[in-house]
Amino acid sequence: MKTVRKEFTDCNGRKITVTYWTLRGRRSGPTLTLIAGQHGMEHSGPCFLPELAEELEQTDFAGTIHICPCANPAALELDYEFYPEQENLDMIKDYYYSYFRHYYCPWGLGRMEAMTLYNMNRTWNQPGNGVAFDITRWLWREIVKPAFLTLDLHCAQNRKPFIFNDFPKNNEWVRFTGIESSVQCFHKPDAYAAGNLNYQASNRPGHYSFCIEFSIQHGLKEEEYPIGKTAVKNLMVALGMTKGTVVLKRPVWAVPEDQPGTCWKAKHAGHVRFFFDTCDEAKAGDRIFEVRDFQTLEVLETGIAPHDGIVYGLSLHPTAKPDLPLCSVVKAEKLAEAGIPLEVPRKTNGRGLTPSGRRVGAAAGFNVFPAVRKNAGGIPD
Ligand SMILES: [Zn+2]
Repeated sequence: MKTVRKEFTDCNGRKITVTYWTLRGRRSGPTLTLIAGQHGMEHSGPCFLPELAEELEQTDFAGTIHICPCANPAALELDYEFYPEQENLDMIKDYYYSYFRHYYCPWGLGRMEAMTLYNMNRTWNQPGNGVAFDITRWLWREIVKPAFLTLDLHCAQNRKPFIFNDFPKNNEWVRFTGIESSVQCFHKPDAYAAGNLNYQASNRPGHYSFCIEFSIQHGLKEEEYPIGKTAVKNLMVALGMTKGTVVLKRPVWAVPEDQPGTCWKAKHAGHVRFFFDTCDEAKAGDRIFEVRDFQTLEVLETGIAPHDGIVYGLSLHPTAKPDLPLCSVVKAEKLAEAGIPLEVPRKTNGRGLTPSGRRVGAAAGFNVFPAVRKNAGGIPD
């Protein structure tokens, strides 16, 4: 395992070192790049990638793997989304995270208030100054530009890990991950969101990229590390880097960004009881949730599925209040079935072509959903 480090300097002269590793297989094959830690409150990828690198070092594989677990070390140290190098960093001392104020920013620069270019995942291939720009320029040149597939690891606040996918062509690979749902964000991003790593990396013919969102920010959820390791190892089988068979425990669903289907908002205050978990399949008529009064303990409302679908977007709040979104029953399309071996593209030549010359991905008609209109509520990672 080769270690590569580069030192960067912020606007105050602070030195910040970024590390990546390169593992070379015994035979030639595609290049797979794994990046995590762009956002400083998202620690799952940064924590399990060093363990995965050690495991892969003991694995016989074809091709090349680049791994950068902590792309934004100064932000990870703050446990904050970005590293605001020109602001007063002492203000982080008064900051605590609560999902009741999810978008609060001590510097008034949160996602909902400002399109700050301190956000590393808005700087890829964009002109600009600052240590985030310097780091992404370097990582792009060194490990993203040559990669056939780039996997970017983030964390959201959710019940289970999920995927953000910007291009239909990525579904050829997404379905192998075993991550149960993939939100399809197929609209052309605005200039700000275009600096997203996945968009930049997969907006090139023959290159692929998507992100996995683990399910906790500002915390650790070690039980999800095996999910991340399995996703990478399954992708290596799909890419022909290792031999094996991929059999998923749960199906993988493509969820349209505008999520047609039922989206329930609570009508009452009370405790919520969900009878389904995220990505469970529901049939029309199933009881999905109920809300029970705090004082009388009577059931005030019940959510009954009006159609078949998967239960999605479950509220993380223990209590309901009027207009709080509770969950949806989404008409999703199954990308991969559970319990049966997935058909692996026999071999790729690293340029997105199978031996027969059939181009994999969108050009082969692998398109689960047509492009959806831009969803104003969508917040790309
Ligand atoms: Zn993120």
